[in-house]
Amino acid sequence: MVRTRTPIPFESGASLPQRLLDLLFPPRCVHCGRMGESLCAVCRATIQPPRGPRCERCDRSLGAAPGPRCGLCLARASATGQVALARIIVATDYAGAARSAIRALKFRRQRRLAQPLGRLLTEALRRAEAPPDLVIPMPLHATRRRERGYNQAALLARPVARALGLPLVEDALARVRATLPQTQLHRADRRANVAGAFALTESVAARALAGKRILLVDDVTTTGATLEAAAEALLAARPAAIYALAVARPSLDAWPDSAEPPDR
Ligand SMILES: [Zn+2]
Ligand SMILES: [Zn+2]
Repeated sequence: MVRTRTPIPFESGASLPQRLLDLLFPPRCVHCGRMGESLCAVCRATIQPPRGPRCERCDRSLGAAPGPRCGLCLARASATGQVALARIIVATDYAGAARSAIRALKFRRQRRLAQPLGRLLTEALRRAEAPPDLVIPMPLHATRRRERGYNQAALLARPVARALGLPLVEDALARVRATLPQTQLHRADRRANVAGAFALTESVAARALAGKRILLVDDVTTTGATLEAAAEALLAARPAAIYALAVARPSLDAWPDSAEPPDR
């Protein structure tokens, strides 16, 4: 059940010490440099849902294809006979202010950006009408988690779970195998790279997920191969359905040759 709540102001999740620090050192917008907020209202307003006809399963632009599913979803279903992920919901394109905010969250330790980006995710989920029962962030491999000091997907999943009043299960999945960055690989190699990379953790009884509609949360998805690999690991818990929600998707045309991969 998706409940409606009174909107909370951006960055209201900031702690008291953080708010004091903000007074001493006012944040700057990571996209335009304006003083006051880490993502200003003007830049937030430019972040819009992807436009045009989209694939009913993965939210990718259909372009000139007839639909209702895109070529990648059709190819995956015919190659494997089944897909673990029922839906992939994407809040916006990986461009402009959204791209600046995601990169600052991941690579410049600007954790507070999880608040405005989390609101984007919540709004996208409400539009998509795919109501989950619980929320699971995509895990980082332990080495990467140590290097960064936090898992950006967990930071994003928290405001979503809070806004929807849903349980957040942060330790349900583990990334058991380090993988090459997906963005360095061509499309055909990406599935093989992430196959078997995830596992259900023992600390979470599979029972807790059985019969539930699970929402996986991540920052960026391109082909959806990483999300699908995580969903395949969750299938062992026999959930009712698995959805995925990501902040942004880069245009496939720009990948994997882009100079700036939104690497994990
Ligand atoms: Zn701005
Ligand atoms: Zn699709």
